[in-house]
Amino acid sequence: MSDVCLPEVSDPAEAGGSAAGSAAWLRARPARAGTRTFDRADTHTDSVCVDALGRPLQDLRLSVIDQCNFRCTYCMPKEVFTKDYRFLSAAERLSFDELATLAGAFVKLGVEKIRLTGGEPLLRKDLERLVERLAGLTTRRGRPLELALTTNGSLLAAKARGLKAAGLQRVTVSLDGLDDDVFRRMNGVDFPVSRVLEGIEAACAAGLAPVKVNTVVERGVNEHQIVPLAQHFRHSGVTLRFIEFMDVGGAASWTQHNVFTSADARRAVEQVFPLVAREQQQRSDTAQVYRYADGAGEVGFISSVSHPFCGDCTRARVAADGKLYLCLFATDSFDLRRLVKSGCSADDLAGEIRAVWARRGDRYSELREETRARPGNKVYPTVRMSLVGG
Ligand code: SAM
Repeated sequence: MSDVCLPEVSDPAEAGGSAAGSAAWLRARPARAGTRTFDRADTHTDSVCVDALGRPLQDLRLSVIDQCNFRCTYCMPKEVFTKDYRFLSAAERLSFDELATLAGAFVKLGVEKIRLTGGEPLLRKDLERLVERLAGLTTRRGRPLELALTTNGSLLAAKARGLKAAGLQRVTVSLDGLDDDVFRRMNGVDFPVSRVLEGIEAACAAGLAPVKVNTVVERGVNEHQIVPLAQHFRHSGVTLRFIEFMDVGGAASWTQHNVFTSADARRAVEQVFPLVAREQQQRSDTAQVYRYADGAGEVGFISSVSHPFCGDCTRARVAADGKLYLCLFATDSFDLRRLVKSGCSADDLAGEIRAVWARRGDRYSELREETRARPGNKVYPTVRMSLVGG
């Protein structure tokens, strides 16, 4: 990759070696069993942008800010993200014009869905103005772009209607517990759960549907919240999804022991509310979705650690500083900011992105799974989740 820069890493000594090494190793190997490849049916034109493993570029996570008003213990622990922490300045972040230009370039390449993220995206002033601009984009197939946002929900009650009016279609809200004490502890800033629940209700009332709620489950911390959360969101039309605690972020103290697997989370739900497996809707879907047997709705499980899904990954990520990452676990990036700042047209940007994507052969999650299995291999270089977005 040209214009490579290294993000903050938990162990800088590993930054060069493992990423480059694994990429070379990967190219020499066929996709392993369980890694699906895409066929022509997934690629609707001959000029579709596909990577070295045949995965089309279809989804973009666009991070609009690296700051967050929460200090979730597993993502931005307050011991690391102190008041002296140096976040990006406004000038270092992409402007709305630049974000819109970039989004246009990705759409030219076949992106059909953009998710705004952060940091906390609702901290970005006048985000509705960006939403308005992105909502006007049309996909290569002539359909409206799918536009979604991931938020901690703290500002959603006040903003849901404005976001909907601006053209946002859906929101996903992160919520790690229903018990106020558990939630206040996990968000690190003593934020009450009632305000997030109000935000979720406001999103439903505004029609930002289907509203999804994401819960990161950390063993010994909040697994006892699984059933209460399931109970709360049954019959509500909201899809709750449990996510395995991942070793991303470079700041959180992750151990394999702290991962409460999707299989265990599903069993916990199933013991109380019987479930029926549902067909996966799109192969790039991250969650395994189940229906409640009594018709009370759906619940999903995201097995990013126990069953990594690299073979189906059609996602690119642009961090708040304009760096393009091809994976949440990637340690190198491509500097799109420099190109946008130099006045590059959307067509030229699309050409650059296509070239980067064409070389993409990573399947970091699967490789990390193998590396983790070796004794003594616990520390990995990771980009900060708050910069690149979840
Ligand atoms: N502030 C927004 C929010 O709270 O949804 C968007 C950014 S946040 C980084 C996006 C998602 O990443 C959240 O659902 C969060 O729970 C998830 N996340 C952060 N660190 C994680 C980790 N170590 N393991 C699993 N999920 C994580």
